[in-house]
Amino acid sequence: MNPWSLSYEGYDPASEGLREALCTLGNGRFATRGASPDGRARTPGTYAAGCYNRLPSTVEGRLVTNEELVNLPDWLPLTFATPGVAWFHPERADLLEYRQELDMRHGVLLRELRWRDRQDRVTQVRQRRLVSMADPRLAALETTFTAENWTGRLRVRAALDGRVTNSGVARYRDLRGDHLTCHATGALDGVTWLTAMTRSSGIIVALAARTDSGEPRVTEEPGCVTTDHVLDLVENEPATLTKIVALTTSRDPAIHDPRSAAIRAARRAPHFDALLAQHAAAWEGLWERAGIDVDGPEIAQIVHLHIFHLLQTLSPHTADLDVGVPARGLHGEAYRGHVFWDELFVLPWLNLRFPEISLGLLRYRWRRLPEARAAARASGFDGAMFPWQSGSDGQEETQTTHLNPVSGRWLPDNSHLQRHVGLGIAYNVWQHYLATGSMPPWCAELLLEIARFFASLAVLDPVSGRYEIRGVMGPDEYHETYPGAASPGLANNAYTNIMTVWLLRRARDTMRLLPGLPATAHELSRWEDITRRVRVDFHDGVISQFTGYADLKDLDWERYHGVRRLDRALEADGDDVNRYKASKQADTLMLFYLLTAEELLDILDGLNYLADPGLIPRTIHYYLDRTSHGSTLSAVVHAWALARSDRARSWHFFTEALRSDIEDVQHGTTAEGIHLGAMGGTLDLLQRCYLGLEIHADGLRLDPLLPDQLRILSMPVRFRGTHIQIDADHRRARTFTRGNRS
Ligand code: BGC
Repeated sequence: MNPWSLSYEGYDPASEGLREALCTLGNGRFATRGASPDGRARTPGTYAAGCYNRLPSTVEGRLVTNEELVNLPDWLPLTFATPGVAWFHPERADLLEYRQELDMRHGVLLRELRWRDRQDRVTQVRQRRLVSMADPRLAALETTFTAENWTGRLRVRAALDGRVTNSGVARYRDLRGDHLTCHATGALDGVTWLTAMTRSSGIIVALAARTDSGEPRVTEEPGCVTTDHVLDLVENEPATLTKIVALTTSRDPAIHDPRSAAIRAARRAPHFDALLAQHAAAWEGLWERAGIDVDGPEIAQIVHLHIFHLLQTLSPHTADLDVGVPARGLHGEAYRGHVFWDELFVLPWLNLRFPEISLGLLRYRWRRLPEARAAARASGFDGAMFPWQSGSDGQEETQTTHLNPVSGRWLPDNSHLQRHVGLGIAYNVWQHYLATGSMPPWCAELLLEIARFFASLAVLDPVSGRYEIRGVMGPDEYHETYPGAASPGLANNAYTNIMTVWLLRRARDTMRLLPGLPATAHELSRWEDITRRVRVDFHDGVISQFTGYADLKDLDWERYHGVRRLDRALEADGDDVNRYKASKQADTLMLFYLLTAEELLDILDGLNYLADPGLIPRTIHYYLDRTSHGSTLSAVVHAWALARSDRARSWHFFTEALRSDIEDVQHGTTAEGIHLGAMGGTLDLLQRCYLGLEIHADGLRLDPLLPDQLRILSMPVRFRGTHIQIDADHRRARTFTRGNRS
């Protein structure tokens, strides 16, 4: 077991989707799935951060418009044929050996195979692939052929193929995926190129390729440009062909047009070895800042995998782009590349290593403040109402109807009522401030506008004298509505209400930090009032997920044992999960994830609720027994909530979160894209939970409590400009700042 690599032996068509997602290579600007460069069965996938397009589709007679992260023209195609034999295809070939290895330290995907053709000629193929972390426009594929028992001519065909659609997710296949149009191709002084345009967003995408091998024959057909090469192989003498590719789009800065920029970048790119050296050096720099040492090669391997994919989605190159945190990385088409609240699980880890990336991601939200303000206004509220699902311009991108693949029925989707997404953004603003000591005025504006929105959501009930927030959904997507209610939404989701108090307190702190910020005295006193009088419900000695939760029915958990998506299973059975005390994922328990016990008890005390010391453990166990973990985020939160009270169970959830993608625990979802929130969440768990790194206004506190299964835990962090190395074991923790011991 090599903790720095992920390897697969043998070719297994059924597992290809999962392997493609896990072997994706990217640089925070674009990413390409680990699909094989040869064979028609392959499903190509290249996605550039922020490159979205909207398309209308008709579903059951209704017109729906979806915005998707576009599957871009494919730069990978490269296939080969021995004399008199058809093009190689991994599913049809007589494969003697086949292996694939992802080298996470250097960001290289290696593929090695040996195949025997019909005339018993055995040929070895070795491919190295990279998507450059040094020059984010470049990618390369090097292929080395060795004829083991023959001498003769090998034909090699390389292409740039723009005839690509979004078709990677089976349940979206009723929706249109033909996002690309206006293809053009050409060849110029040894470089082939292809351009295409996204249909409605009008983004021009260009690919240019240089193949370092003689004078190939160029063929152009609509949407595709091909180069044909002939390699004169001599028995046992390796021959190499490299394809160096540049990808540019009309969203790029410092270009005249994407086509000429791509051609020049491809032409100027160094040869493969130099490109690899620069790329590996860039990765080395990232690992220096981002590495986490744990003992045990299995755990270390997954920790590396999570850091690797997180940085391939969100790298220093991302900081300068106008993009958010796509829930499924740049690794597939699930959730259409949309941005949800998952950044809440990602930014706290980035803040302590790459605060500049976090700041770029917060700026994505800030740039969409006008849209969020307009959305709030249109719904009768103040401040900024961020969409549950966000893409290009910050409009609400949540689908209005979704397919239940179990029943085959299209159903209304009310998940846009998850207003809590704004709380996550504000939490991240505050965490970024705590980690860096810097609160730029625009960050303060973002936090305050979100605070204004939540303050205006809260309505004073004259009878109880409490502020209520109605018509929303919490993170648990199984509860959209009250059974039989005329309109969707719930009242007083505890997570939303309590975090609103937290937010209004932080809004007050922000005003003190930057006294010039605009706010009226009336506004400030209303915020103060809300922090003392928000409604929180309790039942059976625990915090109620929302008003009326206690009246819901108990689910027959035996009957649905092991079913993670109860919403789909119950709907297919003619029932409705809204009727039951059953959660898809942590909802109330999110409070224990985001707040310390002291902070939570202090908020409840300020609200005049009597909270005995047993409230927190009782609440944790109550919901633990009623959650199906239908989201990979759930295990992260449960591991966190149990870390100090039930370490064995916490470890169980932690390892489940670790296995989320590498073992595809949600059965088939990883092939459609990694779960970036769970990946970031596991890393944050190691740092803030098990290492006990708490960031406070007055400094950093360290209170490690390692799980029994971890003997050591070490990592560098960057706190307010100082680099600190932290090494902990079960007996002690040591910190070193830039060569000094403290
Ligand atoms: C979860 C959400 C999450 C989304 C994207 C859903 O299944 O319920 O909490 O934001 O996936 O990861």
